Amino acid sequence: MNEQTEQWLAWDRRHCWHPFTDQRAWCDADYEPLMLVRGEGVWLWDSEGRRYFDGNSSIWTNIHGHSHPALNAAAQRQLSQVAHTSYLGFANPRASELAARLCAFFPAEALSRVFYSDDGSTAVECAVKMALQYRMQTGEPQRTRLVAFDNAYHGDTMGAASLGGVSVFFERFRKFGMPVSFVCDVEELRALDADSIAAVIYEPLVQGVNQMHVWPQGMLRELREWCDATGVHMILDEVMTGFGRTGTMFACQQENVVPDFLCLAKGLSAGYMPLAATMTTERIYRTFEGPENVFYYGHSYTANPLGCAIALASLDIFAKDNTLNRVKKNSALMEKWLREKFPQHRIRTCGLIAGIELRQVDGSAFPPEMRMGVQVCSAARKFGLLTRPIRDTVVLMPPLCSCEEELRFAVEALEQAVIKHRSS
Ligand SMILES: *Cc1c(COP(=O)(O)O)cnc(C)c1O
Repeated sequence: MNEQTEQWLAWDRRHCWHPFTDQRAWCDADYEPLMLVRGEGVWLWDSEGRRYFDGNSSIWTNIHGHSHPALNAAAQRQLSQVAHTSYLGFANPRASELAARLCAFFPAEALSRVFYSDDGSTAVECAVKMALQYRMQTGEPQRTRLVAFDNAYHGDTMGAASLGGVSVFFERFRKFGMPVSFVCDVEELRALDADSIAAVIYEPLVQGVNQMHVWPQGMLRELREWCDATGVHMILDEVMTGFGRTGTMFACQQENVVPDFLCLAKGLSAGYMPLAATMTTERIYRTFEGPENVFYYGHSYTANPLGCAIALASLDIFAKDNTLNRVKKNSALMEKWLREKFPQHRIRTCGLIAGIELRQVDGSAFPPEMRMGVQVCSAARKFGLLTRPIRDTVVLMPPLCSCEEELRFAVEALEQAVIKHRSS
C-alpha cells in the first residue's frame, strides 16, 4: 500500500463513520477499504491504481458514466456563474428550466409542480408532509394514516424510515414514527379503512432494497384504480427506478400511471450531486396557496444550481445518445447472460437492474452466517468489479451508458467470483 493511501486510511479509521457499516469490521486490520480517487465512464480507480467496473452505479445513482464531458462542462459553466444561491426567497434559472423539463415528461397538467430537496429521503419526506397537510386544509383531517408495502425502502430520515418495511433497518425507531399500516399486496389494501388513509407509498415495478423484488405486471395500475376509487393519494417513490433504469424514463410510464406525488433523486443529477424533486399535481398544489396554507419545509441547498445544471445536461444526453434504447437493448443482453451463467441462482431483472440471489446446488438458500453475498462481492473486487450485496442477493446495476463489452466484463467478473468461491 502506498504511503498516501495509508495516511488516508489512518484518518478514515480514526475519524470517519460509514453508513450501514459495522465499524468494528471496517476498522479491522485485515480489512482493506478501497479509497476511490477517480472515475471515467463505467470505470473507477482506487488510490493504488487498480481499475474497477462500477457495478452498482455508485449506489444506484450514476447514469451516463463518471467524468462525462458534457456533464463536466455543464458543471463548469455553472461554476463560472455561481455554485449556490438560496431558493428561499429567490429563484434560479437552472431550477426553473429543470422544473419545466421534468413536468413535460407527463401529460399536460398531470404533474405540473416541482418541489426541490436534496436526496431520496427528503423527497419522500416532502411528499408525506404534503399529503398530510393537504388533508388538513381540504376538510378531511381524519385522513392521517399512511400505507406502505412490506419490505419497502424509502430512505433513512425519521419520516421516510417510518415507511420502511425492512425490519433490521427500521424496527428500533418504529415507536417514534408515524401511523403507518403495512400491506403485502393490493388485496390487503382493500381490507383497510380507506377513509382514514391520506396516502399510500409504493416503489413501482421493483423494490430495490428488498433484494430486487419485481412486482407482478399490472399491480401499479391496480393500485392507481384503488386510489382513484377511494380518494387516497398515490406517492410513487422512483428514487431508484427514475431516469431510465427500467427502460422508460420513469417506471410509472410502463403502466400508464400518473401518481399524485412523484419522488425523484439518485439519477436526477446523473450521479453527480445530491439533488431531489417531489412532483405533484396542480390540484394538490393549489390547496397550499394563501398565508394559512404555506408549506413550511426546505433545506439550505434546495434547488442547488450546480445540481440543476447537471440534471439538465443529463436530460440532453438522454435525447442525444438515445439512452433509453441502449437500456432496452442492453438489459435484454444482461438478462440473457446472467441466466446462461448462473443457472443455479435466482435471477431477478427489470431494465438495467439485476439481483442474483445466490443459491446452493440443490436450490436452497445458504445459511446466513456464511454471508455468501458479502463473500462473492469481495471476491468480485479481485476480478475488477465493485458492487454490494443485499443479504445473499448480489446487485448488478451498471451505469446506463455501459456498452456491450463493458457489460460482458461485469458479468464475467461476477462469474469468476462465484466460481472462485465455490472452489475455496
Ligand atoms: C435510495 C432510495 C431512497 C433514499 O434515497 P437517499 O438519497 O439515499 O436518501 C428512497 N427510496 C428508494 C426506492 C431508494 O432506492
